[in-house]
Amino acid sequence: MSETKLGSTSESGKVFLVGAGPGDPGLITMRGAELLAQADVVLYDGLVNPQLLTHMTGRLVRTARTRSTGHPTVPQQSINEQLIAEAQAGHCVVRLKGGDPYIFGRGSEEARALAEAGIPFEVVPGITAATAAGVYAGFSYTHREHSSAVAFVTGHETPQRQTSHLDYNSLAHFPGTLVFYMGLARIRTICQQLMDHGKPRSTPAAVVSHASLPSQQVVRATLFDLPEQVEANALHAPSLIVIGECVNQRDAASWFETLPLFGLRIGITRPEHQAEAVAESVTRLGGQPIVLPLIEILPLDDSQTESLRQAIRNLDQYDWLLFTSSNAVEAFMEQLWESGGDARNLCSIRIAATGTSTAEKLQQWMLRPDVVSDGSPSEVFAKLLAPKVAGTRCLWPSADRARPVLKQHLAQSGAQIDQVVVYRHRDAEPSDDLLSRFHSPSLDWLGLSSPAIAAQAARLFPELRSSDNSTRVVTISRLTTQAAEEAGLTVAAESESSGWQGMLDAIASAEQQIAAREPRATQHDD
Ligand code: SAH
Repeated sequence: MSETKLGSTSESGKVFLVGAGPGDPGLITMRGAELLAQADVVLYDGLVNPQLLTHMTGRLVRTARTRSTGHPTVPQQSINEQLIAEAQAGHCVVRLKGGDPYIFGRGSEEARALAEAGIPFEVVPGITAATAAGVYAGFSYTHREHSSAVAFVTGHETPQRQTSHLDYNSLAHFPGTLVFYMGLARIRTICQQLMDHGKPRSTPAAVVSHASLPSQQVVRATLFDLPEQVEANALHAPSLIVIGECVNQRDAASWFETLPLFGLRIGITRPEHQAEAVAESVTRLGGQPIVLPLIEILPLDDSQTESLRQAIRNLDQYDWLLFTSSNAVEAFMEQLWESGGDARNLCSIRIAATGTSTAEKLQQWMLRPDVVSDGSPSEVFAKLLAPKVAGTRCLWPSADRARPVLKQHLAQSGAQIDQVVVYRHRDAEPSDDLLSRFHSPSLDWLGLSSPAIAAQAARLFPELRSSDNSTRVVTISRLTTQAAEEAGLTVAAESESSGWQGMLDAIASAEQQIAAREPRATQHDD
């Protein structure tokens, strides 16, 4: 463990108690994200969004104190001991806790245990659930016309207590907004006690569950009706109860649930390392990304590597370089670099690219293609290129499974096409993890970004072909639509531009049309 890593001069390990924020992975602090990236080990609680953990290189240990499927409960004493033991072993330990570590989060108990054991620690605050629920549900707890105070209250007291320590008389007369944490299971008692102590039964109230997540639900009612409404809408933890005039001011301030992909579970079938940017876009548009890598990209074997190096050595014999995917650009340029070359080796060669994402990848290497097609099938690309490449020699760095169509068409127009493999594709294994991500709960949309992926989706998820399937399919292009239909899938939307962004736009506009026909039932306002 290095000094810079910890920000400490100590030789021993150190523990960072870090607030993960309320759910939306973008709401962790910069300091928190930096520490996560550096941690040797992360002990995280059951409220932490797993999306935050995808890029961790350190070990992950789940330590939820509450029961959940497949995970044992871990007593607080044992969590404290693990933190101490990991730090004593010299590790950089992040203790990642939902929301803010010190708001009903037992962070201070952990800090005390560390202090008593002489372990150095720091605490990084987080956005607590109440703050996020207010903002994401559109409630301003301290709007100056309605409330000059806000109280965060626990709805779940230490079980050993026989009588409530909450002073319901004071709470009922509190001059502002009340926000109850951990209160869903006791909502009847909480509302009843407040009314018994004089809070008007007509007081506006709400429950916000899964605040800041695509599964967010908001139920509004009077204090009197709230328990029944919550039961009728079957809300689940984690949830907060909000009581006060701010609940009535929601309409003008609501923004999250009107995002174009709000509440939708969207399957991203790209190889894992390429899914990150798409997952981020889905999240920013209010949806829930489910990464389902249906194909893997593998490095070349030795003989393929040798053929590629050979082609790179002979680059000056070619008039054109043809790129039909951004993966091909990436793999080719990396090999050029590793072979000791650079962009100057391409100074007298012309470049053609299919689709804007291929062109964008070239741009990252400061290369401007001479010809760019709109991403339509190889037949169309070939037609566009044929008059330009006739009589010339072209190098086509491609996937091992690329269709030979481009080569055949251009050969007919008198060009010499040398195809060289720059990356390999393999269908992903149908692992339990992949299948369970697809099924539980079922996806709203599945994005298919190539003909090979479409065929693989139909093979792995045969239920997509059944008439009562509720997952809609969106494709990246006409060609992929054709492949999907040939494999027996029904395509609900097709991208009009290129790349995954085009597919997300297609989903948003399809959803708009669906909503116009049958309003979406994700928001449970009265
Ligand atoms: N330290 C956390 C709170 C832990 S107590 C924080 O600062 O947010 C756990 C309670 O937090 C849950 O019972 C629920 O009341 C609330 N909570 C946490 N995340 C939530 C979310 N996304 N939406 C609604 N309530 C949430």
